[in-house]
Amino acid sequence: MRKLTLLVALLALAPRAALAQRLPVTATPTHYALWFAPDLKNATFRGRETIDVTVANPTSSITLNAAEIQFGAVTITSGGRMQTARVTLDEKNEMATLTVPQPLAGGAASIQITYTGILNDKLRGFYLSKANGRNYAVTQMEATDARRAFPGWDEPAYKATFDISLMIDNGDVAISNGKQLSDAPGPEAGKHTLVFARTPKMSAYLVAMLVGDFVCRSGSSDGIDVRVCSTPDKLPLTAFALEAAEQELKFYNEWTGIKYVFGKLDIIGIPDFAAGAMENAGAITFREEELFADPQRASLGTRKTVASVLSHEIAHQWFGDLVTMKWWDDIWLNEGFATWMANKPLAAWHPEWQVDLDEVEETQVAVSTDALRTTRPIRTKVETPDEINEVFDGIAYQKTASVLRTIENYVGPDLFRTGVQSYLKKYSFASAAGEDFWTEVARVTGKPVDRIMKPFIEQPGVPIVKVEAKCQGNATDVSLHQERFFGMAGPSADAASTLWAVPVCFKTGSTTQQCELLERREQKVSLPSCAANAFANVRGRGYYFSEYPPDTVRAIARTARGALAPSERLSLLGDEWWMVRSGRHDIGVYLDAASSLAGDEAPSVIEQIGSSLAYSHNNVVQDADVARFEEWVRRRFSSELTSLGVPGNTAESDDRQSRRATLLSLVGVTGNSPDVQRQARELALKYIDDRTSLPPTLASTVLSVAAAGGDAMLYDRYRAQLPKLTDKPEEYYRFFYALPSFRDPALVQRTLEFAISPDVRTQDTSSLIGGLISQPWSRDAAWTFVKANWDSLTRSLGVFQGIPRIAASVGAFCSRDKAAEVEQFFQAHPVPAAERTLKQAFERIDACVAVKERQSSAASTWLTMATR
Ligand SMILES: [Zn+2]
Repeated sequence: MRKLTLLVALLALAPRAALAQRLPVTATPTHYALWFAPDLKNATFRGRETIDVTVANPTSSITLNAAEIQFGAVTITSGGRMQTARVTLDEKNEMATLTVPQPLAGGAASIQITYTGILNDKLRGFYLSKANGRNYAVTQMEATDARRAFPGWDEPAYKATFDISLMIDNGDVAISNGKQLSDAPGPEAGKHTLVFARTPKMSAYLVAMLVGDFVCRSGSSDGIDVRVCSTPDKLPLTAFALEAAEQELKFYNEWTGIKYVFGKLDIIGIPDFAAGAMENAGAITFREEELFADPQRASLGTRKTVASVLSHEIAHQWFGDLVTMKWWDDIWLNEGFATWMANKPLAAWHPEWQVDLDEVEETQVAVSTDALRTTRPIRTKVETPDEINEVFDGIAYQKTASVLRTIENYVGPDLFRTGVQSYLKKYSFASAAGEDFWTEVARVTGKPVDRIMKPFIEQPGVPIVKVEAKCQGNATDVSLHQERFFGMAGPSADAASTLWAVPVCFKTGSTTQQCELLERREQKVSLPSCAANAFANVRGRGYYFSEYPPDTVRAIARTARGALAPSERLSLLGDEWWMVRSGRHDIGVYLDAASSLAGDEAPSVIEQIGSSLAYSHNNVVQDADVARFEEWVRRRFSSELTSLGVPGNTAESDDRQSRRATLLSLVGVTGNSPDVQRQARELALKYIDDRTSLPPTLASTVLSVAAAGGDAMLYDRYRAQLPKLTDKPEEYYRFFYALPSFRDPALVQRTLEFAISPDVRTQDTSSLIGGLISQPWSRDAAWTFVKANWDSLTRSLGVFQGIPRIAASVGAFCSRDKAAEVEQFFQAHPVPAAERTLKQAFERIDACVAVKERQSSAASTWLTMATR
């Protein structure tokens, strides 16, 4: 699954003892024959299934998963005898026990069940989606909702083959995991029945069914049929995704050495979808805004998102679908691997996208959670659906990906790939645990992959490596020290007790490195030339912070544009920002380094500066210094913006356009420049009338900068665009996501009311409210609104997606009073699916208060020097 990309990465600690919700081992499924008849008008469905099972030991009862299912006739056949089974429901644990009068012998048996279910409006299981005045029936089974569509073994290790058929309305189509084998009229009046090819062995959470008037654009890759499907109005937006899918499928066939096993590949955009996308075997489903791209008018951001999310989901066809984790505590074997792999086909297809910079950003996302005391180890025990849903987080995704890059860089990419291929082959159509991976890769590569990986997987937190280098003639002596990093100063026993085996890689030339495996607390290294400013994280590929003395940071930054790769410059600034956050360095060290890199050509470097300065503006700089700070930002960055020119044009390089967008926001919003805001307003008004007046990559930024100084007239113009743009997701969300940038309290209120109105899809409500909570000017009003509407939000948004997103957003507060108030509220209104998320949000508030207390006078001193 791919989480919504907008989502702030969230996360935590060993969970409390949970009630076991695992199925007892009474029987194991080998094959399902599933038949469904959805009733789109009444939002229900009828189901019939036959499950072939192997009974472990003689027994008279079999327990399987079922939720919100009304059982009809149930029989079990074994040894040629059919018996009627009695059904006992355990609603709390989402299980049903089928009991027969005479015990079943061990060995083969089959279960026949007829039942009915509901097409719910909670975006989980078999659910109802609406668009263009009609209903659709669609699915999202991961993690634990296949049990809402059919009774079965809804745990990942129970793999079986599936025959699926659907009886649907005449005129509608259906898509499922397998190729469509036949389409016959009836048997009921006004219906036709579609039969799909048997799937290979797979887990129940990968079953998919989509019913409605979907239309598809067809292509192929390596002889595999590939289609991208949509509601009829969005078909013109599917060409880019199809091209990306064809490229990526071919890439993975070659990289893994295992040809795609699921027969055909369909990719379907769904009007209502809670996550970003879902890797159902052979039938990947998507939130529309992350799949569709206008062939002429898509921004770089949209093209990269589509290609990247698609790449993640296609990678899952091997990592997750072919080889599946045994249990959800190893979800990182799915998500971390798909995140890590996803960049590889992109790097091959579009080298100018510089995905190595996106990878360093992924690492920064991971550490923003892993620097917390309430983080969790990559492998965390989980039992309940609430706990399972909560581990789809930045630790499972971005941290695992970063750890894999660390090891890949240390072992060497070709050798590491050989190890990964061997693991995939060995566990194909089966399940694996973490140990199975690192044991196999260590065996094949002959490198200590197991020794490096195990501590990273089982211990929480990110290591910080202190680097002190001294020139000794023609060599450099380096002292290294490792401990656990905490984003907030304070005593901790863990810092000194945790040890990793960290591959620390020094840059020794433009393309050469020297790696040392740092396994002890202290270690000495010798580098073969004099390099007192040696850079200790080549291409930012290591999962650790480097801490240099402040003057070394300044010296490295001064020569960075010539001496370091863009990914290294990004890594340097990212790490230094955390040295400031943790109180290890004064903010002046970061601001000096950022000043040295203000003219950097790499858009990601400028984005890092932009986001750190925005945070400083909102949370660190004292009220009395805000005007001086804004003035410094304008002075330091306006010339870069002016030399790029606004708005520029579509023919320019993507890099130049991205850099312009970041600088426009930096000077216009953080620098609070009235001139830039005015200019943005003029451009925004022109853009509303003529969509070709702005380069696509600049459009969203112009809309939000204009909104920062915007009035009701501009707000009304934005809102008026939305109903006209329902068939153009990217354009729609450009205006939609600009709404939280309006600061006028009356407009903030209007956005809040709008967020819960029927005009906003429930999948989007939490993004809008979360966006308002994350901004200092709208935070209090949005929080008051959330409290006042808590019950109805909980009912409408669902406890797995929307509410946890809102819970995460309260981490943006930055005062002790608010921390206490927010904590109190959630004590009275617990959110079991966001228990760790909330602890992390509270810690983020505390950390912000600590940064403010520690750094605001340092900022003041630095400003005095810088603006003299
Ligand atoms: Zn995923």
